[in-house]
Amino acid sequence: MGNNKNRTKITNIRIKTGDLLKLGGIKKIERGKQYLDDGRVLALEFPGADTVKASILGGKKYSVSISGGDEPRFRCSCPSFENEGFCKHCVAVLLAAEQGTSFETINENYVSRLIGGINKIEDKVKPNPGDEIAQALNEMGAAETGAVGAHGEYRYRQTEKGLVVWGGSAAKTLLRKFDLLRMKDGFRIDGYYFYDGMGGNFRPVAMPADMDLPDWTDDSRNPVFEPEAIPDGIDTEIDSYVVHDHTPKSYFQKSIFLRELDDIGAFWHGCSDWHIKGIVLEKSEVLQAIKSEKYDFTELKNTPELLLPKISYPANGSIEVTFYFLSGGLGSTRGLFRLTDIHQTGGMVKFGKRECIIDMGPGPIP
Ligand SMILES: [Zn+2]
Repeated sequence: MGNNKNRTKITNIRIKTGDLLKLGGIKKIERGKQYLDDGRVLALEFPGADTVKASILGGKKYSVSISGGDEPRFRCSCPSFENEGFCKHCVAVLLAAEQGTSFETINENYVSRLIGGINKIEDKVKPNPGDEIAQALNEMGAAETGAVGAHGEYRYRQTEKGLVVWGGSAAKTLLRKFDLLRMKDGFRIDGYYFYDGMGGNFRPVAMPADMDLPDWTDDSRNPVFEPEAIPDGIDTEIDSYVVHDHTPKSYFQKSIFLRELDDIGAFWHGCSDWHIKGIVLEKSEVLQAIKSEKYDFTELKNTPELLLPKISYPANGSIEVTFYFLSGGLGSTRGLFRLTDIHQTGGMVKFGKRECIIDMGPGPIP
């Protein structure tokens, strides 16, 4: 997968329940359905209208292919298929194919490596440089309105509304951790912080590579909260400037990058409930996190065993990235959520559905 030719949605493959029963018997059908519900179908593609290919996680990873219309022919690489000519994997893939959307999941090791890499730079990415600069200015007795200068790699200006800090080093450092993403040719990522002593915000920007950061000279403007104050040539909608090779992993990287970037600002207010460490890949991780409290989560029974991030290709041309995370609830609900990001043509990404699977109320994860 990873290109457009395998993303046909429509399949003509149909099989009557009676025929399926003759092929596999009720036990195989039930096991197959369970495999699908557990999230064991790892990838599904439609190479042609009458063909389905899939990989599925049984005792090992197996490949399944189904072809034909009303009387489909099955093939699976597992030992059971070899012996009996049919297996539960075929059932699971057939049922998945009937849902009509091709998809690919991102494997556990890959996600863990990516998260590990991002966590390593957390100290550089998360802190609020405004805090440090404000403190330095105070110590120098230079915190009055109008003070301008440089602090390390940042440039600042003290306005009457607060401290404007230029230099998106956090955004640049973060982007380097995503090996499948880069800025569009001729552009760079930068950003600015706004600090008013009680909190603040960070806003990433895309700007021409050869353009200098503007100097803020008008105290009446608040560059963070008034879009009209953004100088020409600088774009605060950076999605379409972050380019990639359109492989499933690169879509996943872009989703995570944009959410992490959003978080650099959101964490200042404590209003974010997204956190990369909260990504969960298996139901057992969720159970482990909540075991110290006596919750009776009936909803959890319907949650798949494998919660791998999924890249799916609905017929409308957009690409959906879905993944699960356990929110620590920084001022908002904690619990298990399923997030869906919609990647549109042109590179814009819409943060889509945010489904609460388990609502654990306010406060941090126990
Ligand atoms: Zn099989």
